[in-house]
Amino acid sequence: MVDLVQQYQDIKPEIQASFSRILDSAAFINGPEVQGFQADLEAYLGVKHVIPCANGTDALQIAMMGLGLNPGDEVITADFTFAATVEVIALLQLTPVLVDVDPQTFNIDPEAIRKAIGPKTRAIVPVHLFGQCAPMEEILEIAREHDLYVIEDNAQAIGANYRFSEGRLQKAGTLGHVGATSFFPSKNLGCYGDGGALFTNDDDLAHTLRGIVNHGMYTRYYHDVVGVNSRLDSLQAAVLRAKLPHLDRYCERRREAARYYNAAFGGHPELSVPKTMRGCNGICDSCDCHVFHQYTLKVGSGRRDALAEHLAGSDIPFGIYYPVPLHRQKAYADDRYVESDFLVTNQLCQEVISLPMHTELDEEQLDYITRTVLDFMDRQA
Ligand SMILES: *Cc1c(COP(=O)(O)O)cnc(C)c1O
Repeated sequence: MVDLVQQYQDIKPEIQASFSRILDSAAFINGPEVQGFQADLEAYLGVKHVIPCANGTDALQIAMMGLGLNPGDEVITADFTFAATVEVIALLQLTPVLVDVDPQTFNIDPEAIRKAIGPKTRAIVPVHLFGQCAPMEEILEIAREHDLYVIEDNAQAIGANYRFSEGRLQKAGTLGHVGATSFFPSKNLGCYGDGGALFTNDDDLAHTLRGIVNHGMYTRYYHDVVGVNSRLDSLQAAVLRAKLPHLDRYCERRREAARYYNAAFGGHPELSVPKTMRGCNGICDSCDCHVFHQYTLKVGSGRRDALAEHLAGSDIPFGIYYPVPLHRQKAYADDRYVESDFLVTNQLCQEVISLPMHTELDEEQLDYITRTVLDFMDRQA
């Protein structure tokens, strides 16, 4: 699914030089590389504050702690996402309220959010799934109307732009009150271990978050709030710092692969290619609004699992993201949920399949993958 070896070869001298510098200085935690990466990422995203932390799941949890959400507060998020999003809501004894998604973009459905809002609702967590922003303009409007916080789960969309209807572009993760991201190795900007970060333009919130990531300390050994230990280490920061200048190129490589897939699958009656949002017909060349963390097809006629088996037999990696809706997971099931509220997610879990997507896909590989998929699909069922 991903090829991180070639990407490393391209930046190896830089990484090795910074690793030796860090090993020689023994500044493993909070060294100059961490400060440097933080500043570089703030400049890249056009956001006032980046707060590095240990992983994307922590980033989400720390965001909710920083906003002062309390047990029993309801947090609305998508039923179709990775479990980390709902896990931290539940861990903090907040009440997750899962809602359905859009069948074209896979992202949270603003109408479903509106329906789910009640007197205890305090926050919305849109997930920018597979590399494209959720419909933030609508979500920010809903949040304003109901005085709710917006916490963006940006683990899959770093580098993506969001296009407002008046044409303005703004980076994913910087649109809500706070954004959370992951630098897990296979993410679009990945380090060589675990890493994460929070983004915000709010000075007071940034200050609070910086304390929470460090045991709730604002002055050494004075603990003002309950915090956690969540740090990005210097070695990971050095990797991220070396990769950040290449992020736009990495995303463009992914879009090139997506264009190849779209051209091959676009006209097929049983395959639906991923849709980009308004303002961009097909894949946007100009606005970077989709960074294709995943390239996800919908397979009709109940043939998804058979296609998966065929790919496995042809040595083509694939992923099913995600096979089970969160509201049906044992950990998150709840009597409040009604199946008829999750028609889209239930169907997506039966139909989606993600194909290899990374920066090193070449034409020969893409040709083999697309031919193998089409050979199977064109066979009589
Ligand atoms: C990867 C991911 C996370 C969690 O990130 P980690 O760094 O693995 O903790 C959270 N949300 C989504 C949507 C993700 O894809």
